[in-house]
Amino acid sequence: MRTQMVGGLRADDVGAEVTLAGWVAARRDHGGVVFLDLRDASGIVQVVADPETLGDVVHRIGREWVLRVSGTVRPRPEGTVNADLPTGEVEVPAGSLEVLNESEPPPFPLSDRADDVDEVVRLRYRYLDLRRPAMQDNLRLRARVNAALRDAMAKQDFVEVETPMLIASTPEGARDFVVPSRLSPGSFYALPQSPQLFKQLLMVGGLDRYFQIARCLRDEDLRADRQFEFMQYDAEMSFADADDVMAVVSEAVSSAVEAVTGKRPGLFGRMTWHDAQERFGSDKPDVRFGMELVDLGPIFAATEFRAFQAPAVKGICVGAQGEVSRSTVDALVERAKKLGAAGLVWMRVREEGGTTVLEAPVAKFLSEPEKQGIVATLGAVPGDLVLIVAGERRMTNRVLGVLRLDLGKPVIGGDLSPLWVVDFPLFEAIGTDGRPTPAHHPFTMPHADDLDLLRGGDLLAVRSQAYDLVCSGWELGSGSVRIHQSELQQEIFSLLGIAPEEAHDRFGFLLDAFRFGAPPHAGFAFGVDRLVALLAGEENIREVIAFPKTQSGSDPLTGAPSEIDAGQLAELGISVRPRTKGASR
Ligand code: ASP
Repeated sequence: MRTQMVGGLRADDVGAEVTLAGWVAARRDHGGVVFLDLRDASGIVQVVADPETLGDVVHRIGREWVLRVSGTVRPRPEGTVNADLPTGEVEVPAGSLEVLNESEPPPFPLSDRADDVDEVVRLRYRYLDLRRPAMQDNLRLRARVNAALRDAMAKQDFVEVETPMLIASTPEGARDFVVPSRLSPGSFYALPQSPQLFKQLLMVGGLDRYFQIARCLRDEDLRADRQFEFMQYDAEMSFADADDVMAVVSEAVSSAVEAVTGKRPGLFGRMTWHDAQERFGSDKPDVRFGMELVDLGPIFAATEFRAFQAPAVKGICVGAQGEVSRSTVDALVERAKKLGAAGLVWMRVREEGGTTVLEAPVAKFLSEPEKQGIVATLGAVPGDLVLIVAGERRMTNRVLGVLRLDLGKPVIGGDLSPLWVVDFPLFEAIGTDGRPTPAHHPFTMPHADDLDLLRGGDLLAVRSQAYDLVCSGWELGSGSVRIHQSELQQEIFSLLGIAPEEAHDRFGFLLDAFRFGAPPHAGFAFGVDRLVALLAGEENIREVIAFPKTQSGSDPLTGAPSEIDAGQLAELGISVRPRTKGASR
């Protein structure tokens, strides 16, 4: 239907006879000739349509009409070259013009920026939204990432295997989406939260190196970086340890980054979970900027100042705050309190008669050596704002970690600063029943050096062989070395309070498989949507998904979720309780 795409037309093409096809992105009708911006998937070119030769239809043509145009490329007249458009030096006077389809006026402008268009409207007409160059770019970038990941994994001898969608429950700990079974009414399949159990079975099955870009589903509240369904790069390898897995994944991520930016990211950093907490107050530290948490405890070991007589006293130094206003610091204090701190001590750093001084409401309670200690330890210079939190250690780290991000986080885009966070704790917390809750899933191998602690020590101090990959302060994904011997697995289950019968009900098939020579194995998974969003410089993953759900989980385009008819329900043996006023069902 066409001789070429429009986006490649340049001054070199002047004189060429071309036939083009696409949509009318814009039209300028000054009564005489009509200028049409013709858009196809490659870009835009200016077409000049003359009603004298083409007839009155030219005046009727509207935005998003579908046209086929033939003509001879010519240079644009002096003074009308558009330097912002790659094809801006040329235009195509239409020798013939065929209307392939008409269009209703689009409900919103399909220009590059959609910031002021309601997202629900964009999603309702997603097929139009997708015509916008920004969305086209994002989806094409996404396809390049997928291709690069597949390629990198194939090169590293990984076998792509599809695992099932209709399964029994998975161990990721989120809420399952369930599918009622017609053949056994009252029974349900779960949709996979991850291919976890199957990839481990593949290792028992001798596949050695498995990989998949898998669709995963978790029924959790949606956020900017979370959808019900998402694509996960998922890998597992046998006879491998954490270093082997991190090397493979680093290579895959580097290839994806290179496919998009043309440049491989530098060396991936590595930091223990403990250091991440102490230095950045987070298990997903954004290491693109400094403003690290500094331990001020030693300075206040014998302080008279009551507020600093605490298990931990830590501070951050916010640069170049100048004359930061009282309302700004008041807001920071409020924020710190909301986050659980008893208070927030702030100090302006000033220059006075050649020396650096601290100006703050609490300054009078601090001794001179204490004040000097703060300046020296934090490396504070005039113009800085010092923020100090004292109290229980975890809280102190957390609060300062959040303030640090509030005050310093660079925008998404550019530098990914990939970082492996290693030696995660095995357990997240101890519940009221005295049982620990796992930080990862229950198949995560404890750290070899901490097995004694597991058998009668501080459970929260037990490290695991789990690792996360963090990019630009986003947790991209996580993985672990798995437990492959049943005795240790039993031990963990009993610590977690999973009775043998329950373990058998939930994961019996995996435990059975492990009795037949399971190899040592380890794996990893990361969110492809998140990686693509980072590379596209988008804060919101919906911008890199063709047909996402809204924050409330609905699809304005198809109307999902929707009711199903009585016959379908009957076949499934399901009856739906009538909706009661004010209650969700
Ligand atoms: N299955 C885990 C997850 O989806 C990743 C892994 O441990 O490999 O988070």
